[in-house]
Amino acid sequence: MTTPLIVGNWKMNGLSADLGEARALADLLAQRPHHARAGLCPPATLIERMARALAGTEVLIGGQDCHAEAFGAFTGEISAEMLAEAGASLVIVGHSERRATHRETDRLVRAKATAAVEAGLLPILCVGENFAQRQANLALDVVTGQVLHGLPQMLAGAADAGERVCIAYEPAWAVGTDLVPTIDQIQEAHATIRAALVHGLGPAGRDVNILYGGSVNPHNAREILGAAEVGGALIGRASHKAAEFIEIICAV
Ligand code: PEP
Repeated sequence: MTTPLIVGNWKMNGLSADLGEARALADLLAQRPHHARAGLCPPATLIERMARALAGTEVLIGGQDCHAEAFGAFTGEISAEMLAEAGASLVIVGHSERRATHRETDRLVRAKATAAVEAGLLPILCVGENFAQRQANLALDVVTGQVLHGLPQMLAGAADAGERVCIAYEPAWAVGTDLVPTIDQIQEAHATIRAALVHGLGPAGRDVNILYGGSVNPHNAREILGAAEVGGALIGRASHKAAEFIEIICAV
């Protein structure tokens, strides 16, 4: 596995005044020993300014979504190349909120992840079951399908695939709810995702970081990040304040 990756997803939160939190995070990372890479995905309006404010620091900047096409008549959309030009090196694709509210399919998510790789961004491909699927004992089938149908096809067989994509296992019922799966459930899902990665990519599937996301906070981070096959985390609410987020990053 590559170095653990801890990424904050600010969703539709953040104005200019909040850039100070990003700067504070960079300062804390410079002071505190840590073993993980750290990233922030602010709203698109802040990406360029955050990238400038954090230039020369170790904080990676990411988008929260991208369009599958490079350019064109897609009002309101942002391409992966535009994110890269603004200073992003990561992009979240297939977040459960977009799968639910924008009806994003695996086919669309794969096209977005492919566009991200082509633009030189690291896609964070989100997978995870909803509550009804968990209740129906379908969670492992759901994540297997989402991985196999969401991975960019051009990475199959690529020796460096582990550096060009990562997965976030985010059970939709754990996102924003303060409900957290048991460690056994997390490990079972991550082991299933690992098997799907090796099936879909070949041996390099063993090198892909599999992040966990869903109600991670400074109190539960150490146990979750210490679980088998957990190679980082995607964090919503607990990434807004640098003082809280740094505790999660340092829990690896
Ligand atoms: C997320 O939005 O991806 C997320 C994990 O949110 P939270 O940490 O707030 O549950």
